[in-house]
Amino acid sequence: MVHLSKVKKGKQAQRHRQEQDETASPYVYGTHYATEELPEHVMSEREMPADVALRLIKDELSLDGNPLLNLASFVTTYMEDEAQSLMTDAMSKNFIDFEEYPQTAHIQNRCINMIANLLHAPTSDGNHDQDCLGTSTVGSSEAIMLATLAMKKRWQNQRKAAGKDWTRPNMVMNSAVQVCWEKAARYFDVEEKYVYCTETRYVMDPQAAVEMVDENTIGICAIMGTTYTGQYEDVKAINDLLKAKHIDCPIHVDAASGGFVAPFVRPELEWDFRLEKVVSINVSGHKYGLVYPGVGWVFWRSPEYLPQELIFNVNYLGSNQATFTLNFSKGASHVIGQYYQLIRLGKHGYRSIMHNLTQLADYFADEMKKLGFIIMSDGNGRGLPLVAFRLTPNDDRLYDEFSLAHVLRQRGWVIPAYTMAPHSNQLKMMRVVMREDFSMHRCQILIEDIKSALKSLEEMDIEMIQKYTQHLQAHSARKVPQQHAYYNNEKHSLQGKTGKTHGVC
Ligand SMILES: *Cc1c(COP(=O)(O)O)cnc(C)c1O
Repeated sequence: MVHLSKVKKGKQAQRHRQEQDETASPYVYGTHYATEELPEHVMSEREMPADVALRLIKDELSLDGNPLLNLASFVTTYMEDEAQSLMTDAMSKNFIDFEEYPQTAHIQNRCINMIANLLHAPTSDGNHDQDCLGTSTVGSSEAIMLATLAMKKRWQNQRKAAGKDWTRPNMVMNSAVQVCWEKAARYFDVEEKYVYCTETRYVMDPQAAVEMVDENTIGICAIMGTTYTGQYEDVKAINDLLKAKHIDCPIHVDAASGGFVAPFVRPELEWDFRLEKVVSINVSGHKYGLVYPGVGWVFWRSPEYLPQELIFNVNYLGSNQATFTLNFSKGASHVIGQYYQLIRLGKHGYRSIMHNLTQLADYFADEMKKLGFIIMSDGNGRGLPLVAFRLTPNDDRLYDEFSLAHVLRQRGWVIPAYTMAPHSNQLKMMRVVMREDFSMHRCQILIEDIKSALKSLEEMDIEMIQKYTQHLQAHSARKVPQQHAYYNNEKHSLQGKTGKTHGVC
């Protein structure tokens, strides 16, 4: 019912005290700031009121996508209020000040212990030579840089001791690696030796990987959950082949995404420190570790695999700390957020979440199959809880995965299309990552939206589809900041060389 209101004759509300007018805080949209551009290139000379700065920046950020609809990324978009509150409190603590914030340092160490335990890290009673060790990082990228440095240094030390050439290190990896591996190789002068994917195989062939190892190989990188299809690489097969052939080559496992999934969904799967050739492992705390970005973890089987000359003992405010990081100061929030999740959820909590996501992924994959898509990911917990799919080859179809992604984007869903790793015949694919905050109800809405997107694409003729996708592409390109013209068209990376587009992760 709507209430009708009688309009009364009234008088202007009076301000009782004149000075109130002058002290009332200005209303943001009534100030001159509302009609001026925000500073972009040069700082303004004068301060601006805090509430105006807050409001105007918030307004601008509302144009960013909605993280909950971003099904492209593995990175956490939901944490409980309690975790957020702890993390906000910790923002002003510099993580590196161990002396000042000893409890934060203890908390990091507890996280290291708990996560290493999930990875079956070897421990001994008091024999320091045999204990696993680890550190927190900003993410898996930093973790992988550190692990690459450790493998390289150890290999160089061995080569020097044997009086052999130590100047041409190489690393064996899948061509579907995350870009941080390309960076690690380039930054630290290690040659990349790629095992290429094919049109039907998106994980590294263990045989091919082991055959590529030579005397200059510092290690093999195996991925627990490739970013394209989420499949687990067969670390055990690589391990067993190396052993059978008596090849002395370490394995590093990139478990950025799978490190918190496989231990709960596939506890029997041997891919971690249970395998003797696995010497180091990285995990992203901000992926299925369920913490906001950025926190990562890296572990070494024993000090033998982390050469002493990489470690710096920093005497900081009177206490000696061994550090191995690329940066120094950073906030303490993320490590504390990780500890919250570990103790709040326990193994049962993580297990329930990972099982739910696995079930959802299987359900979504079935529905996509019914719509005629080819499913490229492994269901049933044999890979990450994601669904990688593509359209069936059909010469008569006028649209492709990229046009479908564009249509879904109009509704707000971020479901990217990719061109697969090189040598896979430029295969196009799409990927939906199941994250903690993606539940069945939203999954159903997404399925309906995909159906209607397909229907509207079916109804378009070729000219319209081309116009439509070109328009949308130009539109999204305009939205992101222009990259520096000097660096356009680089030809040194896998993307530059082959047209592979990297999976968002
Ligand atoms: C996400 C990801 C990385 C990079 O991790 P960050 O934590 O984002 O630095 C590396 N490898 C794989 C397999 C990934 O999925």
